[in-house]
Amino acid sequence: MGNPDATQKHIEQVMDGGDEADPAAVFSMVCGDHEGVHAFLNAVAVGMAVMDEQGRLLWANKALGRILDRAPASLTGQPFTRYVADMDPGQALDLHRRYLAGGSGMTKEWTALRRDGRRVPVYVSPGRLRISGDTTCSLICVTDLTAQGENKEALTRRAFQQGIISEIGLFALSSGDILGLMRKTVLLMVSILDVEMAEVMRLMPDGALRLEAGVGSPDPEGTIYPGQADSGQSMAAYLQSASGPVIMEDYAGETRFTVPDVFLRAGMRSGVGMLIHGRDGHYGFLGAHTSKKRVFTEDDVHFLQSLANVLSEAVTRTGAEAALAASNRLGRLILEAVGEGIFGIDRAGSITFVNPATAQLTGYPAEKLAGEDPHALWHHSKPDGKPFPRSKSPILKVLADGRRRHVREDWFWRADGRIFPVDYVVTPLLEDDQIRGAVVAFRDITERKKAEKALTYQAYHDELTGLYNRAFFIERLERAMRATKSGGRGHFAVMFLDIDDFKFVNDSLGHTVGDRLLRGIAMRLWNTLDPGDVIARFGGDEFAVLVDGRDVPGKGLATAERIHEEFKKPARIDEFEFYVTASIGIVDDVAGYEGVDEVLRDADTAMFQAKSRGKGNSEVFDRAMHDRASERLHLVTGLRRALEHGELYLAYQPIFRLPDRRTVGFEALARWRHPVRGILSPAVFIPVAESSGLILPLGDFVLRECCGRMRRWIDEHPGAGGMSISANISAKQLMQGDLAARVGRVLGETGLDPRHLKLEITESVLMENAELAVDLLSRLRDMGVRLSVDDFGTGYSSLSYLRRLPVNELKIDRSFVSNMDVNPEKFEIVRAIVQLARALNLDVCAEGVETEAELAGLLSLGCGLGQGYLHARPLPADEARAFIPDPL
Ligand code: C2E
Ligand code: CA
Ligand code: CA
Repeated sequence: MGNPDATQKHIEQVMDGGDEADPAAVFSMVCGDHEGVHAFLNAVAVGMAVMDEQGRLLWANKALGRILDRAPASLTGQPFTRYVADMDPGQALDLHRRYLAGGSGMTKEWTALRRDGRRVPVYVSPGRLRISGDTTCSLICVTDLTAQGENKEALTRRAFQQGIISEIGLFALSSGDILGLMRKTVLLMVSILDVEMAEVMRLMPDGALRLEAGVGSPDPEGTIYPGQADSGQSMAAYLQSASGPVIMEDYAGETRFTVPDVFLRAGMRSGVGMLIHGRDGHYGFLGAHTSKKRVFTEDDVHFLQSLANVLSEAVTRTGAEAALAASNRLGRLILEAVGEGIFGIDRAGSITFVNPATAQLTGYPAEKLAGEDPHALWHHSKPDGKPFPRSKSPILKVLADGRRRHVREDWFWRADGRIFPVDYVVTPLLEDDQIRGAVVAFRDITERKKAEKALTYQAYHDELTGLYNRAFFIERLERAMRATKSGGRGHFAVMFLDIDDFKFVNDSLGHTVGDRLLRGIAMRLWNTLDPGDVIARFGGDEFAVLVDGRDVPGKGLATAERIHEEFKKPARIDEFEFYVTASIGIVDDVAGYEGVDEVLRDADTAMFQAKSRGKGNSEVFDRAMHDRASERLHLVTGLRRALEHGELYLAYQPIFRLPDRRTVGFEALARWRHPVRGILSPAVFIPVAESSGLILPLGDFVLRECCGRMRRWIDEHPGAGGMSISANISAKQLMQGDLAARVGRVLGETGLDPRHLKLEITESVLMENAELAVDLLSRLRDMGVRLSVDDFGTGYSSLSYLRRLPVNELKIDRSFVSNMDVNPEKFEIVRAIVQLARALNLDVCAEGVETEAELAGLLSLGCGLGQGYLHARPLPADEARAFIPDPL
C-alpha cells in the first residue's frame, strides 16, 4: 500500500460511514491494491468496471479493455458515457444515477463505441457496491454480443449469469467469510445451472476429500471421503491432471476415472467439475451434478470457471488471515494497511503469512517469507549477540501453551543485520481447542524508546546546565544512605553550594549572561569533581554534590577547597570577566542521618553559616550549628511572644555633625529584653525576624515607637525641631510593596512631620531590588520622608542606579571607618565614598566612629555626619533625650 496513513484515514472514514469518503480512494482501498481482487476481476471473461456516482470509471478489467479495444488503465477516470454510442451522455448519466438510487433500466442491450470506431452491441448488467454509508459505486458487467450470435434465451441466461458472478465477486470482496462464500456459490449454482447437486470439496493432505459446502448431497457438510485423490483411478486425481473443467456426460459410462460413490448414491447422472486453486497448489473441487443426462454448454462451463476463479482467489487470500480477521473485511484491509507488522505461524513455528509491514520492518521480501522460520530469521540472538534459545522465545511458548503474551520490549533482527526494538503481542490461533498456530503483531518501538529516554533524561536533568536535577540527586543520596546503613562500603559527604552575589550578575547583565555564566560554572564544577561524585543543580544558583568519600573522611572539605581554588580563575563571557565565589556547606558524613531531608537541611545550614562569614567560604556542619539551628527555632517562638508581651524596645544612638559634634538626630535600634537571656542584640533576632516573616510586625512596632518618640521630643524640647529620627527598613519590609502606605499611616497616627523621619535601607537590599526601589522610594520621598543608604560600600552599587534612586544620604559602613586612620586602603575607600556623595549631592554619614583618629580622618575628607561610640552608644530613650541640644 502506498501510504499507510492515508489508507488508515480512509478506513476510519469507512468505519464511520463518513460522508466525505472519496469513492475513488475508497475503491482503491477496497479493491485497488488487492492483488487477489484484481486477479479475480481480470480472470473472468466478462468485461467489468467499477464506476462512481458520477459515472466515472474507477477501474476496468482486461475483458472490458478487449471489448472496447482500449488499455484498461486508459479507461480509469473517464466518464462511461464516452463509450456509449447509442445514447446521449446526459441521458446515460441519468440512467446510471437512477440505478444507483435503486432504480432499474441499466440492464439492457447497449451499443458500445470502440477505439477503432466500431460500434458493438453489448449486454450490460450492473451491481451496486455500497462502500460506506452514503457512498455507492456500481460494478457493471459487459458482454460483447457480437461474439455469440445468440438466441434470445441464451442471451438472457448469460446476462443473468453475469449478474451472479458479479454478486459472488462482491461477496468475496466484502467478506472474509470463506465458508459463507462457498455456501452461497453452491446455492447459486443449483438455481442458475438448474442442477440438483453442487458442492465444494476440499482436498486433504492424505488424499481424502472433505465436503466443505454442498447442496443436494446425501451427506452433511464436513463429511470426509477417504482415499479419493491418491489413486490414479480417482476423479480427484483426474481433475488435478486436467488443465480445465471436466465435463461428465454420463456417470454410468464414465471410463476416465471411478465416479465417487456419493454422486451415484445421490442418483446423479451428469456433471461438471473443476479445480479450485489454493495457496500451495490445489485446494479442491467445485462440482455440479444433475440426475438428467445433460450436456453442459460452454456458457455453463464458463460460468462455473468464473465461480471457481472467485473461490480460488478467496481461498488463496484467506487461510490464516481468515482465522485472524474472521469475517471482518476491514480487519483484512487493516492487516494490509497497518504499520504494525503482523505475521502468522503454524504449529511448527513456520510463517504462514505476513503483511506488508512485516516485510518492510524486517527487510525480507514478503513473498519469500512463507514457510520460513521467523525465530531463525529475526529472533535468533539477543542484542549482545548471545543466542536466544528457542525454548525461551515467548512466541514459540504460545504455540506450546496457547496463552496469549504481550512482550513490551524485545529485539528483532533485520535482513541487513541491524537490530531494532519491538513490542509485540502473540495470540494463539485455536480451533476446536487445538492450537493451530499463532499470530504475532509487532511494532517498531525505536521512537518510543527514544521518547522514553528523553523523558527520563528530562526527569533527571536540569535543562539549563545539563547537570542532574534535585530529584535525581535525592534518589542517589537515598541510595548512598541505604548503602552505608546496610553496613556496606562508603563514606559519603554532601556539599551544598551557593554562588555568591549571583543575583547581581542576573540583574545587572541580564538573564542571558546569567544563564551562560551558570552553564560555565556547572561545567567547571563538574570538571573539578571526581568521577564518582554526583553533582546536581537544585535551582537558581544552588548546587549540591554527593561526594563519594570511600574511606577518606574529610574528603568533602578537600573537594570544597578544590572548588574555591578553581574559582580563583576568572570566568569569561564575551567582554566580561567574572570572578565567581561560592559559599559551601558540608555534611561530612551522611552516616547516622535518618533521612535525606535532614542531610540537606544541615548542609544548607552550614552553607548559610559559610555565607555569613563572607564570600568564598566553606563550613562543615557540626553540632554547634545544629544547636544554632534549633536555637533559631526557639527564637522564632520567643520573638512572637516578645512582640505580644512588649519585650521589645528601642535604643537611640545619636547622630552628630562631625565638625562641631552637635547631635542632629538619632538612629532607632531594636532591642529585646529576653525574660531569661537578658538583653538581646538585633544581630541575633533581626535575621530570625526576617526569615520568619516577623520582621513585618516588628518593623511596624519600630516605626510607630520611634515616630511617636520623636514627636514627643519635638513637642517637649525646642532643640529637637530640626532633628530627625532614623529607622532601619529590612528587605522584606521593602518588598512588601505597601511600605509607603504603612509609613504614611504611622506618620498620620503619631502626627510626626515626614521630614523628621529618615529611613535607612541597606545598600545590597536596595541594589537587589533596584527597579522596585526606585518606584517605591520616589513615593516615600514625595511624601517628604528622607532616605539613607545604609552600610554603603558593602553592596555593589551601580552608579547609574544610585543616580536614579531618590536618596538623600549615604552611610559609610562601619568596616571602612574602623581603623581607617591606620589602613590606607580603607581610607581611600572612605575618600571615594565621600567624593561620590558630594558628586551626587548627597549627605554622608560615617558609622562606628570609635576614635578621635578616625574622626580626624573623616574630617580631613570632608565627611559631614557621624555616629559611633566616640560620641554616644545606643541609649535608652530617656538617656538619649539628654543629647538633644538646646536650640541655636
Ligand atoms: P546598623 O544599621 O548598621 O546599626 C548600627 C549598628 O552599629 C548598631 O548595632 C550599633 O549599636 C552599632 N554601633 C554604633 N556605633 C558603633 C561603634 O562605634 N562601634 C561598633 N562596633 N558598633 C557600633 P546594633 O544595634 O547591634 O544593630 C545591628 C544591626 O541591626 C543594625 O545595623 C541594623 O542593621 C539592624 N537593626 C537594628 N535595629 C533594627 C530595626 O529596628 N529594624 C531593622 N530592620 N534592623 C535593625
Ligand atoms: Ca542603620
Ligand atoms: Ca550600618
